[in-house]
Amino acid sequence: MQAKITNFWEWQQHFSDEKICLEAIIKQRWPEGFCCPRCNHNKGWLLKTRHVFECSDCHHHTSITAGTLFHNTKLPLVKWFWCIYWLSSDKGSISALRLTKLIGVSWVTAQRMLRTCSRSNISGIL
Ligand SMILES: [Zn+2]
Repeated sequence: MQAKITNFWEWQQHFSDEKICLEAIIKQRWPEGFCCPRCNHNKGWLLKTRHVFECSDCHHHTSITAGTLFHNTKLPLVKWFWCIYWLSSDKGSISALRLTKLIGVSWVTAQRMLRTCSRSNISGIL
């Protein structure tokens, strides 16, 4: 998706806030636009603070991050996106200690992020 971005400067300029990261996840999950899983209605609004789409017809709430590697995360999405960059640019060999210094999370959190990313398909975001 972001094949044109080749260095971290461009990456962090592009994924600079929560809204942009959330929109990237939305585009990946619903390339043709949002569709309600309950009633198939194609209009909804974003409840940004909760990472949720509300269907404008049946008012069903659909989590944007459910089923993705960002599921139930308390961390800013920006940190996840930066983690994904470092992970992919270092061919998956980045250490938790290095990630700790790069994105300012604890070692335990960095470990958990790396484990989650290694279990997920992150290429769809890149
Ligand atoms: Zn609906």
